[in-house]
Amino acid sequence: RQRTLVLVKPDGVARGLVGEVLRRIEAKGYTLVALELRTADADLLAEHYAEHAGKPFLGPLIEFMSSGPVAAVVVEGHRAIEGFRSLAGATDPTTAAPGTIRGDLARDWGRKVIENIVHGSDSPESAAREIALWFPSL
Ligand code: ATP
Repeated sequence: RQRTLVLVKPDGVARGLVGEVLRRIEAKGYTLVALELRTADADLLAEHYAEHAGKPFLGPLIEFMSSGPVAAVVVEGHRAIEGFRSLAGATDPTTAAPGTIRGDLARDWGRKVIENIVHGSDSPESAAREIALWFPSL
């Protein structure tokens, strides 16, 4: 069994989609190990998005991600990292496949940050790092 960090981003929380995202995760057979609603500060987000250091969208991304509460969730299950990324769909809501969280629910507003409802860790190394960052007690 594998763990991954999922975030329902501020757009998802503001639009009342936390339950819908959790429903899809649970329906897929994954287990929720930890769950917290919290407004992240810029320091936490800069660490979370360390791999994007230097990219032009990092500043706006941190601003967006700290604009309101996110739901941070540790999800566990067989191949949960890849499985959740499959549930989430492509980064860009316009091309994310129907049936995925982003394909069904995300809106392309043409803003400078892609507001795509969820984040999911992209590798076992990122998952371990992100879970330690968001849930140091786990
Ligand atoms: P996440 O890591 O959030 O699950 P991802 O792996 O699909 O998403 P990344 O490439 O890691 O996407 O980018 C992280 C986040 O940064 C994206 O989810 C999106 O919100 C934002 N983002 C990525 N690329 C761009 C871009 N070119 N312009 C604006 N925002 C972007």
